[in-house]
Amino acid sequence: MDSNLKVFALGGLHEVGKNCYVLEKNGDIIIVDCGIKFLNNNNLADGTVPNFAYLLENRSKIKGLFITHGHEDHIGGIPSLLQLIPTIPIYGSEFSISLLKKKIRGGTTISATIFHDEPITTGEFRVDFFRVTHSIPEKFDLVKLAETGKRGVDLLLSDSTNAEVEGTTPSEAKVVKRLENIITEATGRVIITSFASNVYRLKKVIEIAKKTSKKIVLLGSSLLRMIEVINKASL
Ligand SMILES: [Zn+2]
Repeated sequence: MDSNLKVFALGGLHEVGKNCYVLEKNGDIIIVDCGIKFLNNNNLADGTVPNFAYLLENRSKIKGLFITHGHEDHIGGIPSLLQLIPTIPIYGSEFSISLLKKKIRGGTTISATIFHDEPITTGEFRVDFFRVTHSIPEKFDLVKLAETGKRGVDLLLSDSTNAEVEGTTPSEAKVVKRLENIITEATGRVIITSFASNVYRLKKVIEIAKKTSKKIVLLGSSLLRMIEVINKASL
């Protein structure tokens, strides 16, 4: 591996939330994700963001911010970062960029590039992407992942909540089945809380509600923002 390359985290290690990773090589920096960490006070409007001191000190080196996906723990800190350094070019999927734009208020314009399947070169870095399955729309591009593996991998950094906890997590299909049972059997209202960005679960709950002829009421600004973006993206 290139000995000039530095990789470090400003958040997201040994904690759930505020994912933010920095790659630095020969005086150029790229950032991967900039999330928020929700505090345990039941107020989802409240959260902490990574410590941006290093980025502020080295702002002239920053070539771009790459978003892996649109969950809050990966994009929720971006508005705070842009308040400090407004000129960072941002790269992400169409869906992630749409969600981010909805979060940026107050007339701030952002320099955003939607990546498709072509690599992006910026400064010392050439960044390529492959899609993975997650609780937000994208389909796994197994072929591209396999091709990347064949070219040789020097370092794999993989993010997964509870990766350090032994055992397996039940599949989302099991959660949906349980939800379907509960909603079907309920004689009155069913109130469901969820992260707004868990789009797959949201979609399934709406499908179950339709199947069981229940009216759907959506509450919460993040949820409404999400539905607006989903409708525009015609997912
Ligand atoms: Zn996520």
